[in-house]
Amino acid sequence: MHSICVVGTGYVGLVTGTCFAELGNHVACVDIDESKVKMLRSGKLPIYEPGLLELVQRNSAMGRLCFTTSYAEGMRDAEFVFIAVNTPASEGDGHADLRYVEAAAKSIGRHLDHDLVIINKSTVPIGTGDLVTRIVQEERKGDAQFAVVSNPEFLREGSAVVDCLNPDRVVLGATDRRAAEKVASLYLSLRCPIIMTDLATAEMIKYASNAMLAARISFINEMAEICEALGADVKQVALGMGYDKRIGSSFLEAGLGYGGSCFPKDVKALMHMADSAGCHPQLLQSVSDINADQRKRAVAKVQHLLGGLRGKVVGLLGLAFKPNTDDMREAASVDIASMLLAQGATVKAYDPVAESVARGLLHDVEYCHDAYAAAAESDALMVITDWNEFKQLDMQRIRGSMRTPILLDGRNMYDPAHMRELGFTYRGMGRN
Ligand code: NAD
Repeated sequence: MHSICVVGTGYVGLVTGTCFAELGNHVACVDIDESKVKMLRSGKLPIYEPGLLELVQRNSAMGRLCFTTSYAEGMRDAEFVFIAVNTPASEGDGHADLRYVEAAAKSIGRHLDHDLVIINKSTVPIGTGDLVTRIVQEERKGDAQFAVVSNPEFLREGSAVVDCLNPDRVVLGATDRRAAEKVASLYLSLRCPIIMTDLATAEMIKYASNAMLAARISFINEMAEICEALGADVKQVALGMGYDKRIGSSFLEAGLGYGGSCFPKDVKALMHMADSAGCHPQLLQSVSDINADQRKRAVAKVQHLLGGLRGKVVGLLGLAFKPNTDDMREAASVDIASMLLAQGATVKAYDPVAESVARGLLHDVEYCHDAYAAAAESDALMVITDWNEFKQLDMQRIRGSMRTPILLDGRNMYDPAHMRELGFTYRGMGRN
């Protein structure tokens, strides 16, 4: 049993802290957001993440998990302090905004009164491990010792708890090998490969991994465009490719491109780092451009089918950037709804969990209580998020309720032939 402090109770910090508690450790989570801490103390979650609520409630009740806004309280007995604060893209050139990491490092430095290990879990530019070390050194008052270890996080929203407890690998970067070994001891019970390396390499592994995944998505989306032009079906192309062991089947789903709080910002931040170091990241630039184009292509298809969008009603199925989350950061829905509205369409939308977050971002959208209401009296229906509940919809009922039965399947969820049989004018992404 170890005593752990986690700074930041967002998707990563809350899941990490809760999972460490579930493994038997004593965990204190610190956040500057008082409303989040208040909610968590009363056994409620500020985010939607499957399976998390039960774990938070159980571990809180067992006295292994607590929440506070006070660093002094959170760090009191901590042997390990994890930094899991947000690192958003900055306006303009897209470099990672480190102000939250810097603030967290300052607070940790000021409250450092015993030896401990500081672990950076946030996705941060190469060199941030050294920056955190410098900040803590500057802020600390006494002679308590510390080491900084980089431990990037690879969990996926929507399956974060399962990912956290069953990681493919744990990456640890440090100059102090003993500190890295101490952190490794926290993960031993998970029985996964542990890669020990230097700080810069660990930080780079995270960016390179996300860039690779984003590149696969943009690759298959480029294939989708070519398939469409040449009369092939990208879904079957991906299936045929995926059986090749050298290729594999994951991250080969053509659609509206990647979104969320990681891939878009991490690809841009890596491009910025590469530029600053005198490199010319041509592939990353294309990955990012293709992704932006997918959203425009989807809207253009609907516009073409309707002969213009002014005065038309478009229904959106799903708003979250992917299923099983309420995260709307960089969601395709935000760009698509904005483009539709700018061209004079009325937009109706339904999402099973992201509506309240979406309301803060998309003000002119009419929010509906279910998929049928979003489709009713619309001139076109666009599938934006492939939520499971959309797979079993009564599509005959949907078609019957629409003004014109145009279905733009942005996630290739439905069988084109079946949809046409039902009377839809169907368009997928990369299949005719
Ligand atoms: P988030 O925005 O959901 O949560 C960040 C939390 O940190 C917020 O609750 C915020 O109030 C808190 N915070 C900010 N400054 C603070 C401070 N000085 N002291 C205490 N708390 C503070 O962010 P997230 O999605 O959990 O991402 C965190 C990091 O992990 C980012 O670097 C991200 O790139 C990375 N990451 C995210 C995911 C993901 O799926 N979300 C996956 C892997 C890695």
